Amino acid sequence: MANATPGKAAILMFGPPGSGKGTVSKVLMARFGTPHVSTGDMLRENVQAGTELGRQAKAIMDSGKLVSDELVNRLADERIRRADCAGGLILDGYPRTIEQGQVLMQLLAELGLEPVVVFLDVDYNIIIRRLTARRSCPKCGAVYNLESKPPKAGGLCEADDTPVAIRDDDREEVIRQRFLNYERQTQPLVDFFAGKVKRFFRVTVGEGSPQENSERVVQTLLNG
Ligand code: AMP
Repeated sequence: MANATPGKAAILMFGPPGSGKGTVSKVLMARFGTPHVSTGDMLRENVQAGTELGRQAKAIMDSGKLVSDELVNRLADERIRRADCAGGLILDGYPRTIEQGQVLMQLLAELGLEPVVVFLDVDYNIIIRRLTARRSCPKCGAVYNLESKPPKAGGLCEADDTPVAIRDDDREEVIRQRFLNYERQTQPLVDFFAGKVKRFFRVTVGEGSPQENSERVVQTLLNG
């Protein structure tokens, strides 16, 4: 059942690849009734639909690198300005560079939304295990995990019976590249935000189930 997040907040889900940003964001969306905006999902939708933007982004995404700030800032700006975000939103996977962080801070100030950072802290070994076991439905985007949330028998999506697949960027060699980007380009945002936002929460998410980890974030936001 939806109950309002404290204030008109833009919750920035932040953490290394595979830290559970997407899963936690979906739980927060259901709990607080605010939209979940994921630049990764928006890019994948464009790839799936075969748009020009999707064609430009696909090769970069498959290599594990970041698509350009200009392209992502444009996508995010258009989405965040829509009416459904006026009361607050959850941002997942954006910003990922200092340049994106600067653009976003300006936009949020203009829209009167308070940035609230949730940094998911998680052990590297847990992440590698999680990412290599992750599968998703190419049709509806539902996310599975071979260990903790397996698809239906035969590897089929529960919602639409499509065979689930490994994301092109979850292959081991690409994961390494994504971590390098994270350390070089995204990690510096921790210091950037620490000096700028009033509410900055570091939540340790360990071996627990996705539900347990998500609940820990909900409680932190409500009580922090
Ligand atoms: P995600 O699903 O958030 O892990 O994103 C998947 C891929 O989309 C990333 O590895 C990047 O190639 C691209 N991407 C998503 N969000 C951003 C962003 N904010 N900046 C640059 N690239 C992004």
